[in-house]
Amino acid sequence: MNQNLAPVEAAFSARRWRVTLGVREVLRILETHDHFLSAHEIEKILDHSLDVTTIYRVLEKLQEVRFVHEFQGKWRLCSDCHNQTESHHFLICENCGSAEEIFLDYHEAISDQLAREKQFLLKKVHLGFLGTCRNCR
Ligand SMILES: [Zn+2]
Ligand SMILES: [Zn+2]
Repeated sequence: MNQNLAPVEAAFSARRWRVTLGVREVLRILETHDHFLSAHEIEKILDHSLDVTTIYRVLEKLQEVRFVHEFQGKWRLCSDCHNQTESHHFLICENCGSAEEIFLDYHEAISDQLAREKQFLLKKVHLGFLGTCRNCR
């Protein structure tokens, strides 16, 4: 368990951030859930041993080093944080709440078209795919 701890420690120490007990605890919870969790849900799972402000702070740091993803105010562990070339998105099942991460390689095509047709400089894309997963179909 906590197989993500070593890369998180490396990323945190590069930024001179401390890997606190809170970071370890939030990571431990995210590792055992494959759907998105809100800070309040994490607080409840941890039996209020961390307050929600601390959890938010931890999640924001983890997000900054790209170990977690946020979607509609909920977070999930990235399934391949070393993949920085493709865009990370999720297939979210509206029935069971499962969230499967997918990697899409469209960024260059879209940013080229937006630059060409609209002189728009693309920085980030927000996309969510809501539907029914293979287990619920
Ligand atoms: Zn990811
Ligand atoms: Zn489902």
